Amino acid sequence: MAGGEEEGAAAGTETESEAVVEELRSFKDLGVTDVLCEACDQLGWKVPTKIQVEAIPVALQGRDVIGLAETGSGKTGAFALPILQALLETPQRLFALVLTPTRELAFQISEQFEALGSSIGVQTTVIVGGIDTMSQSLALAKKPHVIIATPGRLVDHLENTKGFNLRALKFLVMDEADRILNMDFETEVDKILKVIPRDRKTFLFSATMTKKVQKLQRAALKNPVKCAVSSKYQTVEKLQQYYIFIPSKFKDSYLVYILNELAGNSFMIFCSTCNNTQRTALLLRNLGFTAIPLHGQMSQNKRLGSLNKFKAKARSILLATDVASRGLDIPHVDVVINFDIPTHSKDYIHRVGRTARAGRSGKSITFVTQYDVELFQRIEHLIGKKLPAFPMQEEEVMMLTERVAEAQRIARMELREQGEKKRSRNDNDDDTEEAIGVRNKVAGGKKKKRKAF
Ligand code: AMP
Repeated sequence: MAGGEEEGAAAGTETESEAVVEELRSFKDLGVTDVLCEACDQLGWKVPTKIQVEAIPVALQGRDVIGLAETGSGKTGAFALPILQALLETPQRLFALVLTPTRELAFQISEQFEALGSSIGVQTTVIVGGIDTMSQSLALAKKPHVIIATPGRLVDHLENTKGFNLRALKFLVMDEADRILNMDFETEVDKILKVIPRDRKTFLFSATMTKKVQKLQRAALKNPVKCAVSSKYQTVEKLQQYYIFIPSKFKDSYLVYILNELAGNSFMIFCSTCNNTQRTALLLRNLGFTAIPLHGQMSQNKRLGSLNKFKAKARSILLATDVASRGLDIPHVDVVINFDIPTHSKDYIHRVGRTARAGRSGKSITFVTQYDVELFQRIEHLIGKKLPAFPMQEEEVMMLTERVAEAQRIARMELREQGEKKRSRNDNDDDTEEAIGVRNKVAGGKKKKRKAF
């Protein structure tokens, strides 16, 4: 690993980093300038998080940083504050580029930059797929201070947008680098690295240190300092993790039972495919739950719309594929349900990382059917503990089956109708909300949180 010695010296052990947290209690102590300290204060950031304590001082000293931090750790602030501070010292257009794997993450990062940098007039532009390239070219022509981009679309602009280049760039951030590389953005990242100055600062953030990330680190970082705030596959302490072992054919009934048992909470439910996400959302809506889907087959606008409704608490249940399992800034998830068990055990960590954030407590419940035992054992092995079973009254679940079967039937019909409608309109958008609204009546669903029936 390049820069191994320096990393070793700077990384510190858990105990050392605790000591640092004790000593440094404010953003000011970390070297953050007054105007940015005020911005943190306005956001309600009273004290820096662990990754901020570790990364900000070294970044302010001008070092490259590798940040190994779990979701919700405050890593965006850890790279945004040093960049904004450098921008204040030497104002310049096209100053920083943040690469991130998904569109949702890009918007969230941009929001944080704008919130922290509002008093200093920072301008950001988000460059992601699924959005009109023309308006993006115009935004780039205005030369924002910070560009937040997914690699594919940025390369598009670097190759095709006249007058746009990143030859004066001072900072490169690769956020969720492991995921960028897993999504096969390697070629795009290489292309980007070739057209930005070598003389720049680079921050690489990743939840896990994979071989690909190590390779990227060697290629892109100079003499970096490693800031790790948690061991590799640890799940947070305040997270209560459960499993339920159930026959596959009763999954829907068990889901409804749990949603009723834990009514009043906000839920994130993970499904393995777009189709199942959509189907389950329809099913739950038919039973009177305020459920909303988020998956890759929805248009960008609909995805953001779903997320915003959930964030604003207009919906209490978000159903998502793994597209949404990492990095999304959803502060109020009380319960994560792995309705379909993740095929890659590491996704388990990312999924359950949606709850129990920022010191709050949370629950996760993983559905294990007769087909999932091996995958579940792998998860237990990865997190290094045996999970308890979630307590349930089987008879109560069985009392739900008839009603659930009826809702399943209607959901299947709706899915079919939506498919036909889509084909006839040749429209790739997703119509879930409108479509469901009508059919809610069919199932006699009530929009109450408590006991859907
Ligand atoms: P991130 O890990 O960057 O996605 O941040 C997760 C959440 O933590 C975001 O909602 C941030 O606004 C919030 N956050 C970041 N830093 C702090 C802090 N020092 N104190 C409180 N909240 C924070």
